Amino acid sequence: LNFRELRVKDDIIKALDMMGFEQPSKIQEFALPLLLMEPPTNMIAQSQSGTGKTAAFVLTMLSRVVPENKYPQALCLAPTHELAKQIGKVVNDMSRFMPDVKVHFAVKGQMADFGTSLTEQIVIGTPGKLDDYIFKFKTFDISKVKCVVLDEADVMLWSNPGHKEISLKIYNAIQKVNPKCQALLFSATYEEEVIKFAEQLIKDAVLVTL
Ligand code: AMP
Repeated sequence: LNFRELRVKDDIIKALDMMGFEQPSKIQEFALPLLLMEPPTNMIAQSQSGTGKTAAFVLTMLSRVVPENKYPQALCLAPTHELAKQIGKVVNDMSRFMPDVKVHFAVKGQMADFGTSLTEQIVIGTPGKLDDYIFKFKTFDISKVKCVVLDEADVMLWSNPGHKEISLKIYNAIQKVNPKCQALLFSATYEEEVIKFAEQLIKDAVLVTL
């Protein structure tokens, strides 16, 4: 199947062309029909880096946002500032023909000012900073987030206890206001117990191993 057959939006297909992505990778071909489906599917995906997982979840986030709406609609949590920036670069490349789509980085060095509200459709950040934005300064209203992604989910939900605590806090807060929010976990590897934990956390998640 090509990207058009996977029902990717034209504006995204044009950008994929410019990025040199002619055909979906294996994980994209397998996961995108599930990820782009209505109602949205929750997914716990295991795939090595280099397989195209970033593009798979970025494409999903971009497909879910309504660019005309100036508030956060998709959130990606990453363990480091550097990874957040790399993901943001993919979002920017892929949304080249969606000029209204903006990204906000919630990472160190960024100020979460009291009394302002984020207007960007996509937020990418590290747990500590997102904690400030959402719970301390309340500049990030999570109530309209319809897609949440955890990249390096094994680190975010397991091996780094600080990240785990905040990631769970954020995930649970989103679930509470928006139970239909699509949840996606991506990681290169998972311990058996992490999968069990993730399956408890995310109801009805499809487990994809590639
Ligand atoms: P990742 O697995 O996210 O680390 O991506 C690995 C690399 O594959 C990145 O450099 C992407 O730009 C590239 N890539 C992802 N999807 C495709 C695709 N469908 N066609 C060609 N290259 C791709």
